[in-house]
Amino acid sequence: MRAVLVVALGLALGACTDTAPAVAPHIVLVVCDTLRADHLPVYGYHRDTAPALSAWAGSGLVFEQVTAPSNWTRPSMLSVFSGRHPEERRQLRPGEPFPTEVPLLAELLRDAGYETVGVSANPFMTPGLGAARGFDLFVPIGRRPPEDGSRWKHLIATGAVVERVEYVLQTRPDSDAPVFLYVHLMDPHLPYDPPEDHRGFTPPDYAGGFDGAWKDFLPLHRLAAPDVLGAEDRAQVIGLYDGEIARMDAGLVELRALVAEHLADRPVLTLLTADHGEAFGEGESGRWAHGHGTGPWIAGVPLVLHGLDALGPRASGSASVPARGRVPTRVGLVDVLPTLLDVVGVPHPPDLDGRSLLDPVPGREFIVYRAHPRPDQDELAVVRDALRAERRPAGWQLVRDDDGREEPVQDRAALAALERAAGVWSQASRRRLEAETAGTTIEVSDELRDQLEALGYLGVAVPSDDEDR
Ligand SMILES: [Zn+2]
Repeated sequence: MRAVLVVALGLALGACTDTAPAVAPHIVLVVCDTLRADHLPVYGYHRDTAPALSAWAGSGLVFEQVTAPSNWTRPSMLSVFSGRHPEERRQLRPGEPFPTEVPLLAELLRDAGYETVGVSANPFMTPGLGAARGFDLFVPIGRRPPEDGSRWKHLIATGAVVERVEYVLQTRPDSDAPVFLYVHLMDPHLPYDPPEDHRGFTPPDYAGGFDGAWKDFLPLHRLAAPDVLGAEDRAQVIGLYDGEIARMDAGLVELRALVAEHLADRPVLTLLTADHGEAFGEGESGRWAHGHGTGPWIAGVPLVLHGLDALGPRASGSASVPARGRVPTRVGLVDVLPTLLDVVGVPHPPDLDGRSLLDPVPGREFIVYRAHPRPDQDELAVVRDALRAERRPAGWQLVRDDDGREEPVQDRAALAALERAAGVWSQASRRRLEAETAGTTIEVSDELRDQLEALGYLGVAVPSDDEDR
């Protein structure tokens, strides 16, 4: 794939080691699970779901077209942590840990002298499943929902995460080392159940049954057509989702205050993004949540890089982007790792698919695939600039998707090029998987199983018409 060649060439020229800042910054990586870009005002949403994020992003760098490689957490996060597209056959089902052969971001930063700390509210991003490799300290929220089924979203919402971050930052050892802090938030994930003061986006005269309790959302896992949900219910559900974004936005203010208080000895570089988006009945399948699909509502995520201007001449000497503003070039989650390594002057590991966000180039191809569970017909798309080639039961189709609307495009050469990119990915996937030792699986503990069930995974608590989720 072209991305692989470009990055390999950059490494050969030593492009990633001569831009290190005089002072290594603290790095804060914030992943907002299930946050689709187009529900943020900074990406043009009509509701002011995240005013604080908008103001903060105004003094940072906003990437306008960002592709997540998958519809769910684990493959996308493997991409963030490894700088590589996940392999085609990599399902990362619940008992399958991250591959141990691939160097992960926290390991590379720890080897470079960073103190590495993670706090995660997503039960898939936990030490038991390999996500904590490279972290000196990793705090999974790990709360079991109450057995009486009462409201529990607040147990994993931003406030609960911020509490842990505060504890971690207050009690960390006296050290001059720069800190890499990874924070994984879950507010926009089902069940959407924001507190009363963040319910301003729901219809005021709504008289239906969706009030935010987990049981309300069970049908969304199996709805195949948007009109199964009436217009009022649909407005209510989306209003609740938007309310979760507002709750998260308020929590992010607290998080930034904590970082400013406890990590004041060095510049702070923050990268905020999401692992995937969320569907509200869009596209051919008309599905909800994020068990299916490769469209922009699933693959289009936000990405804001903040604090570049405090790094001095670092990176700016070779970067083709300003420290503040907006970048229209399409980039991907696969670019997170090379960016952060470049900023601190750490050489890239071999065989990356990503390249630095500070030097974006148009014309790159990004894979979006549905990892798990495997349907009969694998869902796969390749995105390049404003074009998306999608593999459908009737064959490959080309659409334009730059503004979230799908318009068929007749361009045989472009379609052939994107199909070819899928083939290259497929071949590279086979090569990488063959180089690995046989995949291992681990036993999922009862506690983890409970947590995953509560979020709609494992298909035990969730009645499903087709398969596990
Ligand atoms: Zn996720």
